[in-house]
Amino acid sequence: MANQEDIFKKVISHAKEYGYVAQSSEIYDGLSAVYDYLQNGAELKKNIREYWWQAMVQLHENIVGIDAAIFMHPTTWKASGHVDAFNDPLIDNKDSKKRYRADVLVEDHVAKIEAKIEKEVAKAAKRFGDAFDEAQFRSTNTRVMDYQEKADTIIKRLARSLEKEDLEDVKNLILELEIVCPVSGSKNWTDVKQFNLMFGTKLGASAESAMDLYLRPETAQGIFVNFLNVQKSGRMKIPFGIAQIGKAFRNEIVARQFIFRMREFEQMEMQFFIRPGTQKEWYESWKETRMKWHLSLGMGEDNYRFHDHEKLAHYADAAADIEFRFPFGFKELEGIHSRTDFDLGSHEKYSGKKLQYFDPELEESYVPYVIETSIGLDRMFLAVLAHSLVDEELDNGSTRTVLKIPAVLAPTKAAVLPLVKKDGLPEIAHQIIDDLRLDFNVTYDDKDAVGRRYRRQDAAGTPFCITVDHQTLEDRTVTLRHRDSMEQKRLPIEELHTAIDREVGMRHWLKKIL
Ligand code: ATP
Repeated sequence: MANQEDIFKKVISHAKEYGYVAQSSEIYDGLSAVYDYLQNGAELKKNIREYWWQAMVQLHENIVGIDAAIFMHPTTWKASGHVDAFNDPLIDNKDSKKRYRADVLVEDHVAKIEAKIEKEVAKAAKRFGDAFDEAQFRSTNTRVMDYQEKADTIIKRLARSLEKEDLEDVKNLILELEIVCPVSGSKNWTDVKQFNLMFGTKLGASAESAMDLYLRPETAQGIFVNFLNVQKSGRMKIPFGIAQIGKAFRNEIVARQFIFRMREFEQMEMQFFIRPGTQKEWYESWKETRMKWHLSLGMGEDNYRFHDHEKLAHYADAAADIEFRFPFGFKELEGIHSRTDFDLGSHEKYSGKKLQYFDPELEESYVPYVIETSIGLDRMFLAVLAHSLVDEELDNGSTRTVLKIPAVLAPTKAAVLPLVKKDGLPEIAHQIIDDLRLDFNVTYDDKDAVGRRYRRQDAAGTPFCITVDHQTLEDRTVTLRHRDSMEQKRLPIEELHTAIDREVGMRHWLKKIL
């Protein structure tokens, strides 16, 4: 079996070869951690966006969506805490001159210990076969328990030191664990320093009058500053939510892992405003709702897990990540945060404007509490792409590469293929396209033998191929080939629309989360 790194490399090269993602400004050797979405990537991204928006805004009577500007008044970022606290601890290796996030170095070290645990578990599972009780093994095997204790102790200490801003202890931890620079192999580290992740820019033409601005590092604040505008104009009653999709910018220190960690990325966030004191129930309820959304795409329950935060951000009283099994292990895909009244309260203080809600049932005004759900669109894209790419062995001994993207998200829903480029078959193919394209993104392909065309569409992730042949001329039927099962069936042209819609139509998928 190919190792994780090879699988990930394959995802990256496949993304480029099939028109999904390329490095930004590649002809100038690229820009680190900035990427462009190509023709198929833009479609997939749009479909993920749409699936989220419909699930969050359209299906919830009490959630509305906005589109706030990327530039915001600079005081926003004082109030939100980003000017003072949106930092990552960085450390340099003096020999390689490479810069790392100190917490990531420690976490990677822990991931290696956890990998050893998984190896022990896998070995035991093989040895004991059906009789294997994994939970019991994990809680009784001394070697596994030792590893687990080691990992837990390290993570607890890291969380404690970061919370207390004890950067010296973070460095000591790195030295004690004998972590080496992956490039130079040395333990010659500088001290750990804080680094602010916001990009600064200027607004205004002349140097004297120019105002220092930041590119927003999250979309959430655009929602908070519009809380009253939306509540009043929409006559919204608590509990209600405001959703937004948009770009965010972070000057990430360690920008690697393709589109997992970018400097310019897109977030899909929803802030849910609630009565103070009800945050625990709403937090649990949103965790469940969001997990359901993920599972509805059918990418396997085993590939998701919750991770509760040990170290809470300055604004939160509870926080969890939904983690996904990426090719490089389980990593954060979405965050669900109970943000208390921190944001609205702080904006009240800094702006001098009241940001309160009059609750007609309680007959009192208060600053609402907030539950946030925040998912990276690009990370979701990577989750879909990486999970979907498979090399499949076929019955005849050959292999095929197929992108099993959930059909609702697939960039192109169907390819129409005339068997030959003559006898009027291309004309019928174009007629089919002209009709289907009113509802679906469809494409035409007449190059190469039909088998090769099937493979090409499999690799691009197209759920259906429609083949027009000589029989079509006689009885107006075509073959509909299914990407995943490779099953082919003959049906009248008139039935194509229904057959395709049954599998790609958003309503069928959204029903699963109701
Ligand atoms: P991480 O710990 O991975 O840096 P975070 O906890 O800072 O992420 P949040 O501030 O909670 O992330 O942002 C919410 C979501 O936005 C994340 O779950 C992730 O999906 C996405 N996200 C955050 N930073 C990036 C980035 N640099 N590139 C792509 N997506 C990102």
